Amino acid sequence: MTKIAMKTPLVEMDGDEMTRIIWQQIKDILLHPFVDLKTEYYDLGLPNRDATDDRVTTASAEATLRLGVAVKCATITPNAQRVEEYKLKKMWKSPNGTIRAILDGTVFRAPIVVDCIRPFVASWKRPITIARHAYGDVYRDAETRVDGPARADLVVTYADGRVETVRIHDFDGPGVLLGMHNLDASIRSFARACFTYALSVRQDLWFATKDTISKTYDHRFKDLFEEVFEDGFRARFKEAGIEYFYTLIDDAVARVMRSEGGYVWACKNYDGDVMSDMVASACGSLAMMTSVLVSPDGKYEFEAAHGTVTRHYYRHLKGERTSTNPMATLFAWTGALRKRGELDGLADLQDFADRLECASLETILAGTVTGDLAPLCDLPKVEVVDTKGFLEAIAARLSAGA
Ligand code: NAP
Ligand code: MG
Repeated sequence: MTKIAMKTPLVEMDGDEMTRIIWQQIKDILLHPFVDLKTEYYDLGLPNRDATDDRVTTASAEATLRLGVAVKCATITPNAQRVEEYKLKKMWKSPNGTIRAILDGTVFRAPIVVDCIRPFVASWKRPITIARHAYGDVYRDAETRVDGPARADLVVTYADGRVETVRIHDFDGPGVLLGMHNLDASIRSFARACFTYALSVRQDLWFATKDTISKTYDHRFKDLFEEVFEDGFRARFKEAGIEYFYTLIDDAVARVMRSEGGYVWACKNYDGDVMSDMVASACGSLAMMTSVLVSPDGKYEFEAAHGTVTRHYYRHLKGERTSTNPMATLFAWTGALRKRGELDGLADLQDFADRLECASLETILAGTVTGDLAPLCDLPKVEVVDTKGFLEAIAARLSAGA
């Protein structure tokens, strides 16, 4: 059988622990036999990040700017315990944070929907994609405790010397204080990424804030989204037959629970953090959630939404066979290959990505599943297999259909 050819290499970002093992298995069992895989390889595994003083992470993000499409394995974000475990030189920053900062991207997360796994929300028929603003708000705040009676002000000192003071509160006893910010440029680029993505998947875009309470801060988000929409997107949305819909965050949450799904939900940073976990768990499993980082100028980095599955990895190291679900990591590969195919005009590469996704969904529908899915599947009979067995079952289907 001749293998499918590629033109431009994918940026391949390898990672850690159980997902690193799955990464290799996916390549060996499902990619190399069918595709003449071209990648520019970056080892983002923690030992190599430490050895390169984390320069490998920056280099991989820069390669993504150059080549346009990356696929990333889950990586460890070190904490004190990891510094000890891996004898690290220092507590390196989150690779995802570093890559996101370089690509200035927005993260879109969507569940992988299979007919036999019914979401806990009975009305949801199609996936809900969450777009999370990845800059500012409470994630870049300044906080302090007030330990007695005090007056607290917001003080803005402009470069030209002007000073503006806004009273926050007159404390008559102890309390807490928080200052946060966002940037017009970041909100605009978030808005553009969301409108562009909604157009590319031909789905409505929802956006919500609490602008009735936060009349300046949240209202700025609402106004900038409106401005970006009017400036070039309204006409294209009309043409594509999709809508932009703005409402209050509490109304949005209520509507989401009653909806059929099938739209992109743009969320402020904190809302996106919380709501993506809600959507993921309502759809069954974090292992069935994909994630793609899209930069405003259309560079893509595909990954799984879950971590390195440490608990399974420790069992693997003890020689146990684990049944870790590779679907999200596999869909990161198919997403990246499809996008590469689109950009390079390679129809057979796009077709391969579709067929591989189909084969994996059919494998689950036929009742061959990993352990996490067994209790969720609405099927008369399921057979739980280990990760390798699951990937081999997909390969068999793919070969049979090819
Ligand atoms: P995790 O790796 O997502 O795993 C948490 C638990 O969720 C697992 O123990 C497992 O539950 C279940 N799970 C997750 N993915 C699964 C899969 N593919 N198949 C089956 N079950 C799955 O989160 P964590 O244990 O909190 O974090 C581990 C490491 O990952 C940390 O070092 C963290 O820094 C890193 N992390 C990386 C990323 C990223 O690179 N994008 C994201 C999050 C976390 P059971 O044990 O009950 O089976
Ligand atoms: Mg979260």
